[in-house]
Amino acid sequence: MAEEKTIGITVKKSEDFHSWYEQICLKAEVADFAPVSGTMIIRPRGYMVWQHIVDHFNKEINDKLGVKNAYFPLFIPSRFFEKEKEHAEGFAPEVAWVERKDEKEERIALRPTSETIMYDSYARWIRSYRDLPLRLNQWCNIVRWETKDCKMFLRSREFLWQEGHCVYARADECHKETLLVLDNYEEMMKELLCIAVLKGEKTAAERFAGALHTFTVEGFMPDGKTLQMGTSHDLGQNFAKAFGITFIGKDEEQHYGHQNSWGVSTRLIGAIIMSHSDDKGLVLPPGLCDDKFVIVPIYKDDTKELVFHEAKKLLAGINEQGFFDDRDSYSPGWKFNEWELKGIPLRIEIGPKDIAAKQVIIVPRDTGEKRAVPIDAVCAEITTELGAMKKRLYDKSLHRLATHKKSADTFDSLVSLVNSGNIVSAPFCGEKACEGEIKFESGGITTRCIDEHTSNKNCVKCGKKAAFSVYFGRAY
Ligand SMILES: [Zn+2]
Repeated sequence: MAEEKTIGITVKKSEDFHSWYEQICLKAEVADFAPVSGTMIIRPRGYMVWQHIVDHFNKEINDKLGVKNAYFPLFIPSRFFEKEKEHAEGFAPEVAWVERKDEKEERIALRPTSETIMYDSYARWIRSYRDLPLRLNQWCNIVRWETKDCKMFLRSREFLWQEGHCVYARADECHKETLLVLDNYEEMMKELLCIAVLKGEKTAAERFAGALHTFTVEGFMPDGKTLQMGTSHDLGQNFAKAFGITFIGKDEEQHYGHQNSWGVSTRLIGAIIMSHSDDKGLVLPPGLCDDKFVIVPIYKDDTKELVFHEAKKLLAGINEQGFFDDRDSYSPGWKFNEWELKGIPLRIEIGPKDIAAKQVIIVPRDTGEKRAVPIDAVCAEITTELGAMKKRLYDKSLHRLATHKKSADTFDSLVSLVNSGNIVSAPFCGEKACEGEIKFESGGITTRCIDEHTSNKNCVKCGKKAAFSVYFGRAY
């Protein structure tokens, strides 16, 4: 029995959040450490979650926006970084360069994002208004040589993501779709990930390097920190001018294209783990799991045949994907712990007494509450339970966000509210320098997204007239 304990999580989420998070990643077999520090291995249980996100989002962007998938190289020539100055400066500190023997050849970077390499091609492909809009997306790996604070899924030197890059003839359609994608992200966070988000525009200081507007969806984690979960950028014509993306319009004049780009990454897996999991292990929203349930038989030697027979019959009658844990060498208690640790949404227990009463016991992973269900009704009850679990997970996330959204009118109350684990709306002038001072003096508090436009209050820091209210928080 001592062994049964050590396979489980040994620290509490409420007591040591970081160790708890790392244990969930490792022990639930979501991820593992890799030989080069700051990199990680995504194991099948983690990749399964990513695959569900990929499948869901591919369908969304294909059906709703007509976006096609493509693939561009990992290697980017250094001269591309010189074309858009602000963009190049933004990424300079974290670009990894390829070391080669022949120093005379041009330096090559590993992509920190693909604007430059994609737009070089776009400039060649786009000729007339008939070629627009051009909407492409790619699923790929990204290398950003982060040097501090690497954490599985949340901050690593290599991660997976999707990046959409579109070109339009008109500024208004470009802007409209920038926001449409953001709405899509918000919907995905709710429906698939069961996470409530704040949605809004970034301030100038937090804007993507080279963009006119950056919009974000921000999740609020149980440790009081916010997590940027997806961004959508209206790039205007900055990159079009730098890369020469022009088209001949209906007026037979030459025009620059209007562009946007948008992305979500494997960081979402970290958000899911932090938001939903507990002291027993991983809790996954049902939509992110292949197997929705496990049937665990409870038997002795003389009842094994009966219980196995009934369990197999039960499995065959259920529409949802799941499995029967028929391993003889483990006790039911050991199996309960293992599937709780790995986050199977529902456990179905069946033993001789249940069979006599024509029932089974269903236990949802998130509540752990046992409920007897007539065998005839199991199939329908599973669908109901999965739906109820999804709703509970989202409601909990929404409640957490709602109860930690605060507001402040002074710098001191802003800092103290953020430091006690809240996300705080405060009037702000919008200036980069002022935001820098707030970040420095508070030891890392940053703006997350713009809340609402206000005209009658003064900036919490500099006292100048506020341009708007902004949500401040500590972010991953
Ligand atoms: Zn200010």
